[in-house]
Amino acid sequence: MTLEELDKKYVLQTYARDYTNFTHGIGSTLYDENGKDYIDFASGIGVNSVGHGNEKLANAICEQAKKIIHISNLQVIEPQANLAQKISELYNEDVGVFFSNSGAEANEGAIKLARKYGEVKFDKKRYKIITLENSFHGRTLATVKATGQDSFHPSCFAPYIEGFMCAQNLKDVENIIDDETVAVMIELIKGEGGVAALGHEEVTHLAKVLKEKGILLIVDEVQTGIYRSGEFLASQVYGIKPDIITLAKGLGGGVPIGAVVTPHKDIFIAGDHGSTFGGNYLSTAAGNATLDILENTKKSGELDETLTYFEEKLQEVLASNQDKFDAITGIGLMRGLKAKNSDIQTKTIKAAMKEGVIVLKSGNNTVRFLPSLTITKDEINEGFARLNKALVTL
Ligand SMILES: *Cc1c(COP(=O)(O)O)cnc(C)c1O
Repeated sequence: MTLEELDKKYVLQTYARDYTNFTHGIGSTLYDENGKDYIDFASGIGVNSVGHGNEKLANAICEQAKKIIHISNLQVIEPQANLAQKISELYNEDVGVFFSNSGAEANEGAIKLARKYGEVKFDKKRYKIITLENSFHGRTLATVKATGQDSFHPSCFAPYIEGFMCAQNLKDVENIIDDETVAVMIELIKGEGGVAALGHEEVTHLAKVLKEKGILLIVDEVQTGIYRSGEFLASQVYGIKPDIITLAKGLGGGVPIGAVVTPHKDIFIAGDHGSTFGGNYLSTAAGNATLDILENTKKSGELDETLTYFEEKLQEVLASNQDKFDAITGIGLMRGLKAKNSDIQTKTIKAAMKEGVIVLKSGNNTVRFLPSLTITKDEINEGFARLNKALVTL
């Protein structure tokens, strides 16, 4: 049986998969079973924040694996406490952290926290959460309902969790708020919805309005967090202090981990929420190593140089392909090239793969770039050379 046949026979076919068989990677270069190399501008959908084969991360994982991989959350876990402290220090706010295993699970935690807040902080219980059209918050029954795209909650999976309201944009949020609204959940840059960044002023205005009304602001930073925007959190780029922030993708450098971060430390009490695996020794050791690497990348000025250089390269692509693309979207190393139509989007991604550079789709017309945050200038040059070659073939 070929690998493709094996996969099709034994793995439930929930993904429209590409069957390139990658065997190893170093930095932002991946190699398939035939030895062909690819520049990775996708980093596993923004997960491999420190690249492939990172020695420091690999060593931290190996060292930890030899000592203790897992002990339940009924025991204190030293690397977990250290990682929570690190998140608080990098954010520079007095926050508490709950660890989960994924982004959707972090958002579930945020939703539970908000609903309990709505019970204990108001005379009449508040439970409704407003989210935005074209958002993406995960694949569990609550988070697909929170996701503001009808295609994510078809009738076959009904009934869904109640209490989610969808606003068309930030202005519309204010019209939808009622006396049962407890929170508004947003992505500052819509990862799956076209890499569209929200406007600075609109966001700060909304944050102010919500504060006045006592409604929680939840920012889903599963994709935008962990230096993706150029700062540790995209919330810092926007100068806002949300009531709840969720993290996941880049936090463990590839090891599954998620986090709920909040200054409201007194809402959850023992027994309210939990996870068997969440924040175990292995994933938090990986998180600590990942944040150490990225903190240095930021402090040394390398990250800022990389973002500037990457943007310059994208501008060149846009300038020489005016017939195919309309605009560059996003912030930092979370970028989109908005294509004229979905056909150009699909063909670009396919042709790029053939030339040996991996890019992603976002929404129905955007080509998405989520390179590793430690990508080198040479890798960027090579990736864009291949992309330009691919675009000529369209
Ligand atoms: C990826 C993503 C999620 C879901 O994370 P999983 O780890 O796949 O559960 C949620 N929100 C945003 C913004 C994401 O990008």
